[in-house]
Amino acid sequence: MTQNTLIQRSLARVWHPCTQMHDHASGELPLIAIVRAEGAWLEDAGGKRYLDAVSSWWTNLWGHRHPDIVAALKNQLDTLDHVIFAGFTHEPAVQLAEQLCARSGLDRCFFTDNGSSAVEAALKMSFHYWQNVGKPAKRKFVALTNSYHGETLGALAVGGPSMYRDTYAPLLLEPMFAPSPDCYERGPGESWEDHTRRAFSHLQLLLEQHAHEISAIIIEPLVQCAGGMRMYHPIYLTLLRQACDHFGVHLIADEIAVGFGRTGSFFACEQAPPASYGKGLPGGITPDFMCLSKGITGGTLPLAVVLAREHIYQAFYADYAAHKAFLHSHSYTGNPLACRVALASLELFGEGNALAANRLMAQHLWKQTHSLRSHPHVAEVRQTGMILAVEMVQRTGSKTPYPASERRGLIAYRHALSKGVVLRPLGNVLYLMPPYVLTLKEAEMLCEVLCEAVDVATRGAP
Ligand code: PMP
Repeated sequence: MTQNTLIQRSLARVWHPCTQMHDHASGELPLIAIVRAEGAWLEDAGGKRYLDAVSSWWTNLWGHRHPDIVAALKNQLDTLDHVIFAGFTHEPAVQLAEQLCARSGLDRCFFTDNGSSAVEAALKMSFHYWQNVGKPAKRKFVALTNSYHGETLGALAVGGPSMYRDTYAPLLLEPMFAPSPDCYERGPGESWEDHTRRAFSHLQLLLEQHAHEISAIIIEPLVQCAGGMRMYHPIYLTLLRQACDHFGVHLIADEIAVGFGRTGSFFACEQAPPASYGKGLPGGITPDFMCLSKGITGGTLPLAVVLAREHIYQAFYADYAAHKAFLHSHSYTGNPLACRVALASLELFGEGNALAANRLMAQHLWKQTHSLRSHPHVAEVRQTGMILAVEMVQRTGSKTPYPASERRGLIAYRHALSKGVVLRPLGNVLYLMPPYVLTLKEAEMLCEVLCEAVDVATRGAP
Protein backbone atom coordinates (compact mmCIF):
# COMPACT_ATOMS: atom_id res chain seq x y z
CA MET A 1 0.00 0.00 0.00
CA THR A 2 1.56 3.30 -1.00
CA GLN A 3 1.40 6.41 1.11
CA ASN A 4 -0.79 8.14 -1.50
CA THR A 5 -3.35 5.35 -1.75
CA LEU A 6 -3.84 5.29 2.00
CA ILE A 7 -4.23 9.05 2.13
CA GLN A 8 -6.77 8.99 -0.72
CA ARG A 9 -8.79 6.26 1.04
CA SER A 10 -8.68 8.27 4.27
CA LEU A 11 -9.83 11.43 2.51
CA ALA A 12 -12.67 9.49 0.91
CA ARG A 13 -14.09 8.03 4.12
CA VAL A 14 -12.60 9.45 7.32
CA TRP A 15 -13.61 12.68 9.05
CA HIS A 16 -10.50 13.73 10.99
CA PRO A 17 -10.71 15.50 14.37
CA CYS A 18 -10.26 19.23 14.84
CA THR A 19 -9.65 19.63 11.10
CA GLN A 20 -11.06 21.59 8.17
CA MET A 21 -10.95 18.65 5.76
CA HIS A 22 -10.63 21.02 2.82
CA ASP A 23 -7.11 21.82 4.05
CA HIS A 24 -6.13 18.21 3.44
CA ALA A 25 -7.93 17.79 0.14
CA SER A 26 -6.45 21.03 -1.21
CA GLY A 27 -2.93 20.13 -0.13
CA GLU A 28 -2.70 23.16 2.21
CA LEU A 29 -2.08 20.82 5.12
CA PRO A 30 -0.51 17.43 4.42
CA LEU A 31 -2.29 14.34 5.69
CA ILE A 32 0.35 11.81 6.65
CA ALA A 33 -0.18 8.05 6.76
CA ILE A 34 1.71 6.58 9.72
CA VAL A 35 2.57 2.90 9.62
CA ARG A 36 4.70 2.45 12.74
CA ALA A 37 6.13 4.22 15.75
CA GLU A 38 8.99 3.60 18.12
CA GLY A 39 10.40 5.73 20.94
CA ALA A 40 9.86 9.40 20.14
CA TRP A 41 9.57 8.64 16.40
CA LEU A 42 6.73 8.10 13.95
CA GLU A 43 7.30 6.56 10.51
CA ASP A 44 5.13 7.21 7.48
CA ALA A 45 4.18 4.86 4.66
CA GLY A 46 7.02 6.24 2.53
CA GLY A 47 9.61 5.44 5.23
CA LYS A 48 10.09 9.05 6.37
CA ARG A 49 10.54 9.51 10.14
CA TYR A 50 9.14 12.31 12.34
CA LEU A 51 10.12 13.23 15.88
CA ASP A 52 6.86 13.42 17.86
CA ALA A 53 7.37 16.80 19.59
CA VAL A 54 3.74 16.95 20.76
CA SER A 55 3.62 13.43 22.23
CA SER A 56 0.67 12.44 20.01
CA TRP A 57 -1.67 15.07 21.46
CA TRP A 58 0.11 15.18 24.83
CA THR A 59 -0.55 11.55 25.66
CA ASN A 60 2.79 9.85 25.18
CA LEU A 61 5.21 9.83 28.10
CA TRP A 62 7.69 7.01 27.48
CA GLY A 63 7.92 6.95 23.72
CA HIS A 64 5.83 4.76 21.47
CA ARG A 65 5.62 1.01 22.14
CA HIS A 66 7.70 1.07 25.32
CA PRO A 67 8.61 -2.61 25.92
CA ASP A 68 7.24 -2.65 29.51
CA ILE A 69 3.92 -1.26 28.35
CA VAL A 70 3.70 -3.63 25.40
CA ALA A 71 4.47 -6.60 27.68
CA ALA A 72 1.87 -5.53 30.26
CA LEU A 73 -0.77 -5.20 27.56
CA LYS A 74 0.03 -8.58 26.02
CA ASN A 75 -0.07 -10.26 29.45
CA GLN A 76 -3.39 -8.72 30.33
CA LEU A 77 -4.84 -9.86 27.00
CA ASP A 78 -4.11 -13.43 28.01
CA THR A 79 -6.47 -13.24 30.99
CA LEU A 80 -9.14 -10.54 30.79
CA ASP A 81 -9.91 -8.14 27.95
CA HIS A 82 -13.01 -6.33 29.09
CA VAL A 83 -15.92 -6.78 31.45
CA ILE A 84 -18.89 -4.65 32.43
CA PHE A 85 -17.72 -2.54 35.41
CA ALA A 86 -21.14 -2.21 37.06
CA GLY A 87 -21.60 -5.19 39.33
CA PHE A 88 -18.07 -6.51 38.57
CA THR A 89 -14.55 -5.51 39.50
CA HIS A 90 -11.03 -6.66 38.65
CA GLU A 91 -7.43 -6.44 39.84
CA PRO A 92 -6.07 -3.85 37.34
CA ALA A 93 -8.81 -1.31 38.15
CA VAL A 94 -8.53 -1.83 41.91
CA GLN A 95 -4.74 -1.52 41.88
CA LEU A 96 -4.89 1.58 39.72
CA ALA A 97 -7.51 3.21 41.95
CA GLU A 98 -5.34 2.45 45.01
CA GLN A 99 -2.22 3.92 43.43
CA LEU A 100 -3.89 7.05 42.05
CA CYS A 101 -5.55 7.76 45.40
CA ALA A 102 -2.23 7.30 47.20
CA ARG A 103 -0.44 9.67 44.82
CA SER A 104 -3.14 12.37 44.76
CA GLY A 105 -4.27 12.34 48.40
CA LEU A 106 -7.84 11.79 47.18
CA ASP A 107 -10.05 8.92 48.26
CA ARG A 108 -12.29 7.57 45.49
CA CYS A 109 -11.65 6.79 41.85
CA PHE A 110 -14.41 6.91 39.23
CA PHE A 111 -13.39 5.61 35.79
CA THR A 112 -14.39 7.08 32.43
CA ASP A 113 -12.69 6.70 29.06
CA ASN A 114 -11.57 10.12 27.75
CA GLY A 115 -10.77 13.54 29.16
CA SER A 116 -14.02 15.25 28.23
CA SER A 117 -16.09 12.51 29.79
CA ALA A 118 -14.05 12.79 33.01
CA VAL A 119 -14.81 16.52 33.11
CA GLU A 120 -18.51 15.81 32.49
CA ALA A 121 -18.55 13.33 35.35
CA ALA A 122 -16.82 15.76 37.74
CA LEU A 123 -19.29 18.56 36.90
CA LYS A 124 -22.26 16.24 37.38
CA MET A 125 -20.86 14.85 40.64
CA SER A 126 -20.33 18.33 42.05
CA PHE A 127 -23.83 19.47 41.09
CA HIS A 128 -25.37 16.24 42.38
CA TYR A 129 -23.43 16.46 45.66
CA TRP A 130 -25.11 19.76 46.51
CA GLN A 131 -28.52 18.27 45.65
CA ASN A 132 -27.80 15.31 47.91
CA VAL A 133 -26.75 17.47 50.86
CA GLY A 134 -29.81 19.73 50.58
CA LYS A 135 -28.25 22.79 48.91
CA PRO A 136 -29.90 22.71 45.46
CA ALA A 137 -29.26 26.42 44.85
CA LYS A 138 -25.58 25.64 44.31
CA ARG A 139 -25.76 24.80 40.61
CA LYS A 140 -23.46 27.26 38.80
CA PHE A 141 -19.94 26.59 37.62
CA VAL A 142 -17.04 29.01 37.52
CA ALA A 143 -14.32 28.70 34.89
CA LEU A 144 -11.35 30.80 33.86
CA THR A 145 -11.24 32.69 30.59
CA ASN A 146 -8.94 30.99 28.04
CA SER A 147 -9.38 27.59 29.73
CA TYR A 148 -10.08 24.36 27.86
CA HIS A 149 -11.73 21.28 29.31
CA GLY A 150 -12.89 19.24 26.32
CA GLU A 151 -15.45 19.10 23.55
CA THR A 152 -18.58 17.42 24.89
CA LEU A 153 -21.30 19.95 25.71
CA GLY A 154 -20.68 20.23 29.46
CA ALA A 155 -16.90 20.35 29.10
CA LEU A 156 -17.14 22.77 26.19
CA ALA A 157 -19.36 25.08 28.23
CA VAL A 158 -16.68 25.58 30.88
CA GLY A 159 -14.02 26.33 28.27
CA GLY A 160 -13.13 29.85 27.21
CA PRO A 161 -11.66 30.12 23.71
CA SER A 162 -14.33 31.28 21.28
CA MET A 163 -12.88 29.22 18.43
CA TYR A 164 -14.18 26.01 20.00
CA ARG A 165 -17.20 27.44 21.81
CA ASP A 166 -19.05 30.12 19.86
CA THR A 167 -20.83 27.95 17.29
CA TYR A 168 -22.38 25.83 20.02
CA ALA A 169 -23.09 28.67 22.47
CA PRO A 170 -26.90 28.30 22.22
CA LEU A 171 -26.56 24.72 23.45
CA LEU A 172 -24.28 25.36 26.39
CA LEU A 173 -24.56 25.83 30.14
CA GLU A 174 -23.62 29.36 31.08
CA PRO A 175 -20.84 29.35 33.63
CA MET A 176 -19.41 32.47 35.24
CA PHE A 177 -15.97 33.30 33.88
CA ALA A 178 -13.20 34.79 36.02
CA PRO A 179 -10.18 36.37 34.30
CA SER A 180 -7.37 33.96 33.58
CA PRO A 181 -4.16 34.49 35.59
CA ASP A 182 -2.27 33.95 32.28
CA CYS A 183 1.06 35.74 32.85
CA TYR A 184 1.61 36.55 29.18
CA GLU A 185 -0.93 39.30 29.89
CA ARG A 186 1.00 40.78 32.83
CA GLY A 187 1.71 44.50 32.82
CA PRO A 188 5.18 45.92 32.06
CA GLY A 189 7.48 45.26 35.00
CA GLU A 190 4.85 43.21 36.83
CA SER A 191 6.06 39.91 38.31
CA TRP A 192 4.32 36.61 37.56
CA GLU A 193 3.26 36.39 41.17
CA ASP A 194 1.82 39.93 41.33
CA HIS A 195 -0.09 39.44 38.11
CA THR A 196 -1.44 36.09 39.31
CA ARG A 197 -2.52 37.56 42.65
CA ARG A 198 -4.23 40.44 40.85
CA ALA A 199 -6.16 37.98 38.62
CA PHE A 200 -7.14 36.05 41.73
CA SER A 201 -8.69 39.15 43.34
CA HIS A 202 -11.40 39.09 40.63
CA LEU A 203 -12.24 35.52 41.44
CA GLN A 204 -12.30 36.34 45.14
CA LEU A 205 -14.89 39.05 44.46
CA LEU A 206 -16.98 36.71 42.36
CA LEU A 207 -16.97 34.13 45.16
CA GLU A 208 -17.89 36.75 47.75
CA GLN A 209 -20.95 37.70 45.70
CA HIS A 210 -22.07 34.34 44.32
CA ALA A 211 -20.74 31.48 46.49
CA HIS A 212 -24.29 30.60 47.59
CA GLU A 213 -25.15 29.62 44.00
CA ILE A 214 -21.78 28.16 42.94
CA SER A 215 -21.24 24.42 42.81
CA ALA A 216 -17.60 24.28 41.67
CA ILE A 217 -14.76 26.10 40.03
CA ILE A 218 -12.80 24.23 37.40
CA ILE A 219 -9.21 25.07 36.44
CA GLU A 220 -6.22 23.74 34.53
CA PRO A 221 -3.45 23.92 37.15
CA LEU A 222 -0.38 25.99 36.08
CA VAL A 223 -0.80 25.79 32.28
CA GLN A 224 -3.80 26.57 30.07
CA CYS A 225 -2.68 24.18 27.38
CA ALA A 226 -5.15 24.37 24.46
CA GLY A 227 -5.49 28.10 25.16
CA GLY A 228 -1.93 28.57 23.82
CA MET A 229 0.22 27.04 26.60
CA ARG A 230 -0.43 30.12 28.75
CA MET A 231 1.14 29.78 32.20
CA TYR A 232 0.68 31.30 35.64
CA HIS A 233 2.23 31.41 39.10
CA PRO A 234 1.38 28.48 41.42
CA ILE A 235 0.26 30.89 44.17
CA TYR A 236 -3.09 30.90 42.35
CA LEU A 237 -3.63 27.30 43.43
CA THR A 238 -2.90 28.10 47.09
CA LEU A 239 -5.25 31.10 47.13
CA LEU A 240 -7.94 29.18 45.28
CA ARG A 241 -7.83 26.23 47.68
CA GLN A 242 -8.17 28.60 50.65
CA ALA A 243 -11.07 30.46 49.02
CA CYS A 244 -12.91 27.28 48.03
CA ASP A 245 -12.66 26.07 51.64
CA HIS A 246 -13.78 29.42 52.97
CA PHE A 247 -16.76 29.82 50.63
CA GLY A 248 -17.82 26.16 50.47
CA VAL A 249 -17.24 25.68 46.73
CA HIS A 250 -15.74 22.58 45.11
CA LEU A 251 -12.38 22.83 43.38
CA ILE A 252 -12.07 20.69 40.24
CA ALA A 253 -8.45 20.36 39.06
CA ASP A 254 -8.35 19.32 35.43
CA GLU A 255 -4.90 17.69 35.26
CA ILE A 256 -5.76 15.88 32.03
CA ALA A 257 -2.93 17.59 30.13
CA VAL A 258 -0.60 18.58 32.98
CA GLY A 259 -0.70 15.49 35.21
CA PHE A 260 1.85 12.65 35.24
CA GLY A 261 5.02 14.69 35.45
CA ARG A 262 4.42 17.12 32.62
CA THR A 263 5.00 20.28 34.67
CA GLY A 264 7.96 19.00 36.72
CA SER A 265 6.02 17.46 39.63
CA PHE A 266 3.87 14.35 39.44
CA PHE A 267 0.70 16.47 39.64
CA ALA A 268 0.77 20.22 38.93
CA CYS A 269 -1.25 20.83 42.14
CA GLU A 270 1.81 19.75 44.14
CA GLN A 271 3.58 22.98 43.17
CA ALA A 272 1.23 25.27 45.12
CA PRO A 273 3.43 27.08 47.66
CA PRO A 274 2.45 26.93 51.34
CA ALA A 275 0.02 29.68 52.36
CA SER A 276 2.74 31.55 54.24
CA TYR A 277 6.09 31.42 52.48
CA GLY A 278 9.34 30.59 54.21
CA LYS A 279 7.97 28.76 57.23
CA GLY A 280 9.16 25.36 56.09
CA LEU A 281 5.59 24.18 55.61
CA PRO A 282 4.82 21.56 53.00
CA GLY A 283 3.27 22.95 49.82
CA GLY A 284 0.75 21.43 47.46
CA ILE A 285 -3.01 21.46 47.46
CA THR A 286 -5.57 18.70 47.26
CA PRO A 287 -8.55 19.56 45.08
CA ASP A 288 -12.04 18.16 45.72
CA PHE A 289 -12.03 16.49 42.30
CA MET A 290 -9.12 15.72 40.01
CA CYS A 291 -9.63 14.73 36.35
CA LEU A 292 -6.91 12.65 34.69
CA SER A 293 -6.52 11.17 31.21
CA LYS A 294 -4.01 11.55 28.30
CA GLY A 295 -0.70 10.49 29.95
CA ILE A 296 -2.47 8.08 32.30
CA THR A 297 -1.72 5.11 30.02
CA GLY A 298 1.55 6.57 28.76
CA GLY A 299 -0.24 7.28 25.48
CA THR A 300 -1.27 3.71 24.66
CA LEU A 301 -5.01 3.29 25.30
CA PRO A 302 -7.91 5.62 26.08
CA LEU A 303 -8.67 5.90 29.79
CA ALA A 304 -9.69 8.63 32.22
CA VAL A 305 -10.61 8.97 35.88
CA VAL A 306 -12.21 11.41 38.28
CA LEU A 307 -10.71 11.25 41.77
CA ALA A 308 -12.88 12.61 44.57
CA ARG A 309 -12.74 13.27 48.31
CA GLU A 310 -14.35 10.86 50.72
CA HIS A 311 -17.00 13.27 52.00
CA ILE A 312 -18.23 13.71 48.43
CA TYR A 313 -18.52 9.97 47.97
CA GLN A 314 -20.35 9.73 51.30
CA ALA A 315 -23.01 12.19 50.13
CA PHE A 316 -24.02 9.64 47.47
CA TYR A 317 -23.85 6.64 49.80
CA ALA A 318 -27.29 5.72 51.13
CA ASP A 319 -30.04 3.18 51.00
CA TYR A 320 -31.07 2.61 47.36
CA ALA A 321 -34.51 4.07 48.00
CA ALA A 322 -32.95 7.44 48.90
CA HIS A 323 -32.17 7.96 45.16
CA LYS A 324 -28.75 9.42 45.86
CA ALA A 325 -26.58 7.17 43.65
CA PHE A 326 -24.43 8.56 40.84
CA LEU A 327 -26.13 6.81 37.91
CA HIS A 328 -23.52 7.66 35.30
CA SER A 329 -21.67 5.15 33.12
CA HIS A 330 -19.69 4.52 29.94
CA SER A 331 -19.46 1.11 28.28
CA TYR A 332 -15.67 0.92 28.47
CA THR A 333 -15.44 2.21 32.04
CA GLY A 334 -12.49 0.63 33.87
CA ASN A 335 -11.29 -1.33 30.84
CA PRO A 336 -8.78 -3.90 32.20
CA LEU A 337 -6.31 -3.52 29.32
CA ALA A 338 -6.16 0.24 29.76
CA CYS A 339 -5.85 -0.06 33.55
CA ARG A 340 -3.03 -2.61 33.27
CA VAL A 341 -1.16 -0.36 30.86
CA ALA A 342 -1.68 2.60 33.23
CA LEU A 343 -0.10 0.56 36.04
CA ALA A 344 2.89 -0.23 33.82
CA SER A 345 3.22 3.46 33.03
CA LEU A 346 3.12 4.40 36.74
CA GLU A 347 5.91 1.93 37.39
CA LEU A 348 8.10 3.70 34.86
CA PHE A 349 8.15 6.78 37.10
CA GLY A 350 10.32 4.72 39.47
CA GLU A 351 11.22 6.41 42.72
CA GLY A 352 11.07 9.87 41.23
CA ASN A 353 13.91 9.14 38.78
CA ALA A 354 11.81 10.04 35.76
CA LEU A 355 10.84 13.40 37.28
CA ALA A 356 14.48 14.19 38.07
CA ALA A 357 15.48 13.30 34.49
CA ASN A 358 12.64 15.49 33.22
CA ARG A 359 13.93 18.48 35.13
CA LEU A 360 17.34 18.09 33.51
CA MET A 361 15.78 17.69 30.07
CA ALA A 362 13.62 20.79 30.66
CA GLN A 363 16.78 22.81 31.43
CA HIS A 364 18.37 21.48 28.29
CA LEU A 365 15.39 22.53 26.14
CA TRP A 366 15.51 25.99 27.72
CA LYS A 367 19.20 26.42 26.94
CA GLN A 368 18.88 25.12 23.40
CA THR A 369 16.20 27.69 22.58
CA HIS A 370 18.09 30.73 23.95
CA SER A 371 18.29 32.44 20.53
CA LEU A 372 14.48 32.71 20.44
CA ARG A 373 14.48 34.95 23.51
CA SER A 374 15.95 37.82 21.49
CA HIS A 375 14.14 37.02 18.24
CA PRO A 376 12.48 40.11 16.71
CA HIS A 377 9.17 38.26 16.28
CA VAL A 378 9.02 36.35 19.54
CA ALA A 379 7.20 38.10 22.38
CA GLU A 380 7.84 35.35 24.91
CA VAL A 381 9.45 31.97 25.40
CA ARG A 382 7.86 30.39 28.47
CA GLN A 383 8.34 27.07 30.14
CA THR A 384 6.79 24.96 32.85
CA GLY A 385 8.59 21.62 33.15
CA MET A 386 8.36 19.68 29.91
CA ILE A 387 6.20 22.29 28.18
CA LEU A 388 8.06 25.01 26.32
CA ALA A 389 6.08 27.53 24.27
CA VAL A 390 7.03 30.31 21.86
CA GLU A 391 4.66 33.21 21.19
CA MET A 392 5.19 34.58 17.66
CA VAL A 393 4.10 38.20 17.13
CA GLN A 394 4.29 40.90 14.47
CA ARG A 395 5.84 43.37 16.92
CA THR A 396 7.34 42.36 20.24
CA GLY A 397 6.99 45.71 22.06
CA SER A 398 3.24 45.91 21.63
CA LYS A 399 2.81 42.11 21.48
CA THR A 400 0.79 42.60 18.28
CA PRO A 401 -0.29 39.13 17.19
CA TYR A 402 -0.20 37.98 13.59
CA PRO A 403 -3.72 37.92 12.15
CA ALA A 404 -5.15 34.39 12.42
CA SER A 405 -5.84 34.47 8.66
CA GLU A 406 -2.08 34.46 7.97
CA ARG A 407 -1.80 31.02 9.57
CA ARG A 408 1.81 31.55 10.62
CA GLY A 409 1.66 28.48 12.85
CA LEU A 410 0.78 26.36 9.83
CA ILE A 411 3.83 27.68 7.96
CA ALA A 412 5.98 26.60 10.90
CA TYR A 413 4.22 23.23 11.02
CA ARG A 414 4.90 22.52 7.34
CA HIS A 415 8.53 23.54 7.66
CA ALA A 416 9.05 21.33 10.70
CA LEU A 417 7.45 18.37 8.93
CA SER A 418 9.83 18.81 6.01
CA LYS A 419 12.66 18.52 8.57
CA GLY A 420 11.14 15.46 10.22
CA VAL A 421 9.55 17.01 13.32
CA VAL A 422 5.86 17.15 14.32
CA LEU A 423 5.38 20.65 15.72
CA ARG A 424 1.61 21.13 15.70
CA PRO A 425 0.92 24.81 16.53
CA LEU A 426 -1.81 26.51 18.56
CA GLY A 427 -2.42 29.59 16.41
CA ASN A 428 0.68 31.80 16.72
CA VAL A 429 2.11 29.64 19.48
CA LEU A 430 4.61 26.89 18.78
CA TYR A 431 5.42 24.51 21.58
CA LEU A 432 7.41 21.48 22.59
CA MET A 433 5.66 18.89 24.72
CA PRO A 434 7.80 15.85 23.92
CA PRO A 435 7.88 12.33 25.35
CA TYR A 436 10.07 12.11 28.46
CA VAL A 437 12.55 9.72 26.84
CA LEU A 438 14.20 12.12 24.39
CA THR A 439 17.93 11.71 24.00
CA LEU A 440 20.10 14.82 24.13
CA LYS A 441 20.65 14.49 20.39
CA GLU A 442 16.90 14.33 19.73
CA ALA A 443 16.34 17.33 21.99
CA GLU A 444 18.94 19.29 20.04
CA MET A 445 17.28 18.42 16.75
CA LEU A 446 13.91 19.45 18.15
CA CYS A 447 15.17 22.83 19.32
CA GLU A 448 17.07 23.47 16.11
CA VAL A 449 13.98 22.80 14.00
CA LEU A 450 11.83 24.89 16.35
CA CYS A 451 14.18 27.88 15.94
CA GLU A 452 14.24 27.44 12.16
CA ALA A 453 10.45 27.09 12.03
CA VAL A 454 10.04 30.38 13.90
CA ASP A 455 12.39 32.08 11.42
CA VAL A 456 10.53 30.68 8.42
CA ALA A 457 7.06 31.46 9.80
CA THR A 458 7.87 35.06 10.77
CA ARG A 459 9.74 36.00 7.59
CA GLY A 460 7.85 38.75 5.68
CA ALA A 461 4.35 38.24 4.29
CA PRO A 462 3.09 34.64 4.14
N1 PMP B 1 -9.00 18.94 29.62
C1 PMP B 1 -7.81 19.36 29.18
C2 PMP B 1 -6.99 20.27 30.05
C3 PMP B 1 -7.34 18.98 27.92
O1 PMP B 1 -6.16 19.45 27.47
C4 PMP B 1 -8.13 18.10 27.13
C5 PMP B 1 -7.69 17.63 25.76
N2 PMP B 1 -6.87 18.44 25.05
C6 PMP B 1 -9.36 17.67 27.64
C7 PMP B 1 -9.76 18.10 28.89
C8 PMP B 1 -10.24 16.75 26.85
O2 PMP B 1 -9.71 15.48 26.76
P1 PMP B 1 -10.16 14.50 25.58
O3 PMP B 1 -9.58 15.08 24.32
O4 PMP B 1 -9.56 13.18 25.94
O5 PMP B 1 -11.64 14.48 25.57
